[in-house]
Amino acid sequence: MIRYSLCCENEHSFESWFRNSEAFDALSQARSLSCPECGSTAISKSLMTPRLNSGGQQVQAEVPQADGSQARAVVPNAEKVRVLLRELRRKVEENCDYVGSEFAEEARRIYYGEAEARGIYGETTPEDAEALAEEGVEFARIPWLPREDA
Ligand SMILES: [Zn+2]
Repeated sequence: MIRYSLCCENEHSFESWFRNSEAFDALSQARSLSCPECGSTAISKSLMTPRLNSGGQQVQAEVPQADGSQARAVVPNAEKVRVLLRELRRKVEENCDYVGSEFAEEARRIYYGEAEARGIYGETTPEDAEALAEEGVEFARIPWLPREDA
């Protein structure tokens, strides 16, 4: 079984289980799928975007059990996450312009073509971030760790 996030022509999103991807294709082509909200049969798979989990201080791990089997568990692995975030910070600093608290303004100017298109980073308030997201400006929230040598 495979679970897909689906979306109708009216942008309602919902999830459904299918035997496999061919089963989805067949049902979709036969217009046998319909939106639970509006009944539309123009259904497509939602595009999935990778999202940084801001609460991401945990990773999945296989935990050996006493009887030799493996159990899945979520265990804290803060160090691994820290290493990844430091690497991410380094890449951002190398490739993007720092705009400080002007982030929301500058992101908007770039989005509307009023400023040179480039990678930027800086700080913003949750309210500004929300407003940017609503306007369709693409950005990512990154937990910003202090540098190791700081
Ligand atoms: Zn719908």
